[in-house]
Amino acid sequence: MTIATPAPIVVVGSLNADLTIYCERLPLPGETVHGNGFAVNPGGKSANQAVAASKLGGRVVLIGAVGDDANGTMLLASTAGAGVDVSRVRRSPEAATGVAVISVDASGENNIIISAGANGTLAPEDVAGSADVFERASVVCLCLEVGLDTVEAAARLGHDAGATVLLNLSPYAEIPASLAGLCDVLLVNAHEASLFLGGTAVPDAGADTAAWAPVRSRFADRGLQRVVVTLGADGSVVLDSGAGAGGHVTRIEPTRVNATDTTGAGDAFTGAVAARLAAGESLPAAAAFASVAAALAATRKGTQTAYPEVADVEAMLA
Ligand code: ATP
Repeated sequence: MTIATPAPIVVVGSLNADLTIYCERLPLPGETVHGNGFAVNPGGKSANQAVAASKLGGRVVLIGAVGDDANGTMLLASTAGAGVDVSRVRRSPEAATGVAVISVDASGENNIIISAGANGTLAPEDVAGSADVFERASVVCLCLEVGLDTVEAAARLGHDAGATVLLNLSPYAEIPASLAGLCDVLLVNAHEASLFLGGTAVPDAGADTAAWAPVRSRFADRGLQRVVVTLGADGSVVLDSGAGAGGHVTRIEPTRVNATDTTGAGDAFTGAVAARLAAGESLPAAAAFASVAAALAATRKGTQTAYPEVADVEAMLA
């Protein structure tokens, strides 16, 4: 009997070395504070999302670029070590591997500065050069840590191949209507949702689903039929204006944990959604699973190394 190989999740975007310093509280502008620990970890939103999806059972191909340096070697090894196919990650001879300088305080809050490096060299030609991977894809997972022209090229290839195109609108940037029109699922946090909707605040965590109906309509007016808004420790909301959904809002209750480091929780969530959509789940079911996966990730320091396996999530759900 032949066992069909599952269609891949194609993740296109960034790989960064995360340089993380832990401190009691984050410094104010111009202030210096003492740290109490330092770590270098693999990161970058796309590499994180790829690893999260792979650890949760997805078959993942990553398209990206790293420098010909020690950080690049570290990132390729760690990502491949998590089961991700990195054969489409290009090594750039002229640009350094991207880095993120991260501060995390005692409550798990963080702030981050990114230097794109080789990620900035990822071009539509890189995507076109891997067109064969898109033809077999079930889900194409995108974020905005690489150029918009590259993101749109990947979204178009995914869309034309009939894959589910998932865009995590982070770090926030205005996107053209042409790109929005290629996205099947938009994934945003509350801040990004508000920016996308022209500064309108999204409802409080305690608001009932009816309060989200106008937000759902406004996303639909911008061409986004299916949107997940993540609300940190307050869970998430799935907004569905798609045909047959009748304008549905689903509240995903938070998974209560003692968070120690929420860095990359959003990427764990995105990767988990990609993995579950690729496995054939509905968007609300995928978001509910992702809520548990991301909460588990927030209980451990770091990003990729903190991401759970399927068994960890299932144990939490049992
Ligand atoms: P980041 O940029 O820090 O990675 P984000 O702003 O993109 O995160 P959040 O909304 O903060 O995304 O978190 C994504 C999801 O992760 C949430 O919807 C929730 O399911 C989970 N999560 C985040 N923080 C916590 C927490 N403290 N406790 C439980 N779940 C959490």
